[in-house]
Amino acid sequence: MSDLPRVEIYTKEDCPYCENAKDLFDSKGVEYETYNVTGDDELFEEMVERAGGRKTAPEVFVDDELIGGWDDTSALEESGELDEKLGLADEDGESDGPQGNRTEGGDAADVVEHRTLIIAGTGIAGLTAAIYAGRANNEPLVIEGDEPGGQLTLTTDVANYPGFPEGISGPELVNNMKEQARRFGADLKNGIVDSVDADQRPFRVELTNGDVYTADAVIAASGASARTLGVPGEDELMGYGLSTCATCDGAFFRDEDMLVVGGGDAAMEEATFLTKFADTVYIAHRREEFRAEDYWVDRVHEKVEEGDIEIMKNTELIEIHGSQAEGVDYVTLVENDKGHPTDRLDDPETDEFEFDVGAVFFAIGHTPNTDYLEGTGVEMDDEGYLRTQGGDGGGQTETDVPGIFGAGDVVDYHYQQAVTAAGMGSKAALDADEYLEDLERAESAGTEVAAADD
Ligand code: NDP
Repeated sequence: MSDLPRVEIYTKEDCPYCENAKDLFDSKGVEYETYNVTGDDELFEEMVERAGGRKTAPEVFVDDELIGGWDDTSALEESGELDEKLGLADEDGESDGPQGNRTEGGDAADVVEHRTLIIAGTGIAGLTAAIYAGRANNEPLVIEGDEPGGQLTLTTDVANYPGFPEGISGPELVNNMKEQARRFGADLKNGIVDSVDADQRPFRVELTNGDVYTADAVIAASGASARTLGVPGEDELMGYGLSTCATCDGAFFRDEDMLVVGGGDAAMEEATFLTKFADTVYIAHRREEFRAEDYWVDRVHEKVEEGDIEIMKNTELIEIHGSQAEGVDYVTLVENDKGHPTDRLDDPETDEFEFDVGAVFFAIGHTPNTDYLEGTGVEMDDEGYLRTQGGDGGGQTETDVPGIFGAGDVVDYHYQQAVTAAGMGSKAALDADEYLEDLERAESAGTEVAAADD
């Protein structure tokens, strides 16, 4: 590997996206140097300078060229450009990394491999499905997705996952599950599913880097991604004082006032976590009642008593001001006692005001990652959540397309718990196993497999 470019990664502690970046280079067999900026002001300044003022970890460099954070790195990976920069692409621009195990001949010429089962996503649902599917000898290929490990990698302390009386960190729980899935024969691959063609059997599953697989069954466990507000200043300042991950970036804004937007568990947890670094943490929530469970609301109120958190109810953010050179300077907020002030901008009682903060964290929920299933016939609701069979009997995770199953946050807009995602993941693997057995039987008998109708 000595002729490969030099890869450098600035990391910090409690940084799931740093782990994602390292895992990606590990999966390619590419060596890299890491610089941990936690508690090292000089190194931190060096990172910020080399990254053009960005204050977010990780920052990845290839041969001194700034690649950027995890989003930028995974976008380059998706387009295949990362392999080009690393000298891993062949003359046709195709990756000849560890995954280049292509089959030859006929229609399958562009197909990397046929798999019995492909699982999209390595959050709790996908990994639990992988454990069960591995144990059922379905040798699953698990495609990591653009947020490997899923939402739990952004959680510092998972206190309600059964079996861990002292709690466990999200990344540790995810890593344990990955190890367990591999132990039972699952292969985990870095990549993002771009489309599933359900007009043919086996399914044709294409990744965003162009790799194509075929699969007899697919489990969609691709989770949900952090929502943003779409307000002015957002695009320019994302990574420069605006973040969707408090555990990743909070430490970079030590002694600043920080604003958390949202009123759910994530907002409460992030606000509590940020009190370690912030002068004061402000929570802006758009209505009077918090959505968060009492456990988190109580912890926030303790911090309010201690003077570390201030709550701004019936308040919404409408603009973020600042620059990439100087970071976030201040925000514009609107407030109205009736709640949802952005719906009442013409109401004379709506108060618009400027508010000084040095960092802003969005914690306003998630959108399901289901675009790649469009056109397959899998039914979704207006927000893109998959509709599955549900009910009491078997086949609960079946979608409308026989052979495609859904589990975790792509289906569940209500419970969204790690433990419920794990439960759905196991159900999906069991349903898929039943389907695959029926398929095998039907193939030997020369008939077709239909969805269960209960
Ligand atoms: P939620 O959907 O529960 O909460 C999102 C919050 O953001 C809500 O308060 C919502 O307001 C607000 N919001 C949404 N859109 C906007 C907008 N456009 N403008 C302003 N505010 C907005 O998402 P979370 O990420 O907090 O939680 C998701 C799931 O994960 C939940 O089931 C939660 O229990 C779980 N979780 C558990 C944790 C733990 O226990 N350790 C930690 C984090 C999450 P409104 O209430 O008005 O709709």
